[in-house]
Amino acid sequence: MRRKTSPIWHPFTQHALQPEMVRIERGEGAYLYAADGRRIIDAISSWWVVTHGHCHPAIVRAIQAQAEKLTQIIFAGHTHEPAEQVASALLKLTPPGLDYVFFSDSGSTSVEVALKMALGYWHNIGEPRARIVVMQHSYHGDTIGAMSVGARGVFNAAYGPLLFDVSAVPFPHEGQEQATLDALEQACRAKPAAFIVEPLILGAGGMLMYPAWVLKEMKRICEAAGVWFIADEVMTGWGRTGTLFACEQAEVVPDIACYSKGLTGGALPLAVTLCRGEIFDAHFSQDRSRTFFHSSSYTANPVACAAARANLEMWQDPATLSGVTEVAAMQERALAPFRADARFKNVRRTGTITGLDLDVRDSGYLAGIGPRLLEFFGGRNLLLRPLGNTIYVMPPYCVTSADLDEIYAAIADAANLH
Ligand SMILES: *Cc1c(COP(=O)(O)O)cnc(C)c1O
Repeated sequence: MRRKTSPIWHPFTQHALQPEMVRIERGEGAYLYAADGRRIIDAISSWWVVTHGHCHPAIVRAIQAQAEKLTQIIFAGHTHEPAEQVASALLKLTPPGLDYVFFSDSGSTSVEVALKMALGYWHNIGEPRARIVVMQHSYHGDTIGAMSVGARGVFNAAYGPLLFDVSAVPFPHEGQEQATLDALEQACRAKPAAFIVEPLILGAGGMLMYPAWVLKEMKRICEAAGVWFIADEVMTGWGRTGTLFACEQAEVVPDIACYSKGLTGGALPLAVTLCRGEIFDAHFSQDRSRTFFHSSSYTANPVACAAARANLEMWQDPATLSGVTEVAAMQERALAPFRADARFKNVRRTGTITGLDLDVRDSGYLAGIGPRLLEFFGGRNLLLRPLGNTIYVMPPYCVTSADLDEIYAAIADAANLH
């Protein structure tokens, strides 16, 4: 077989089927500019991270200014202003009850930290618990722990023997919500350490949406059973679901919350795991063996924190959330005609995210239609990356309704592909 010419091994890429990568030179707002001169609309926010648009001037300025002062410092035994300001701004924006902020550098690591916090708590109070309860079809990242609490399938079949066992509750499909709640209640009787869930939308699992009341009930069940409730808001945070955080819509205060992706506006890698005071307190001791043993070299990198601080400043301005409300309304207008289009199923929206399933017999992530859709959208100068037969649109908030018209016109045409 012909080998590829570049030595770079790209993520989630089958190089034998996709020999050429799209070379991007510049990004501005909702647009990417390719080396071949094309302007591409970024309809998925470059894998769900870019919130205010590419190279947002306030974030770029913050990065430049910080880069001249301090670019990296060991975060054990040391601190710096950008990290402290990010932590205090986060505690102002998140619901009261989340008291401590642990920094890391990706969504996956924020999940690993959350799981370790939960197990560390039970270990340190002398009531060891190890089991984690998860929701069917979840995605929490690609490291071993994050894969263990995520859906099993083609993505992790090879690594199955390394993944730890979890208890899964079914996804709350419309009309079957009670089965999810009953299963969670049942699973909580076995005294697990924690329940981890993506609030309101399961992202990589196929943009599966469920209502706020189910989220609220799930939190109530965990609270009653004394099981830590971990909200993985890595994707849902930063306005995606129409509110700053998805949990707000259910008036849920998670015990542990993971945020990443849009935390820096999508400019640099950074993540945080927030937790309740009790969890920190269980690690706070004169006994060094009760330390929270987790770090990564770039924990709370100052430049990434400066970008996050600029992002958080934007969210302190109510105009940012009004912009999100406007994008959600624009998305609804663009999506409406598809609700009556028989070629699509499960036409849905939560906040600024829309999803539509192409009505094909062969569905799932490896559906034959997937690569053809990718190529088709590329040819229309659109960055859209369907999950199997599920097409979704998750644009940066600077997207215009003309951009959305272009995106949805291509989606309508894509339905004629098969
Ligand atoms: C993307 C994602 C992750 C993993 O984040 P990375 O930064 O890619 O490691 C975890 N949880 C959810 C819900 C995600 O969407």
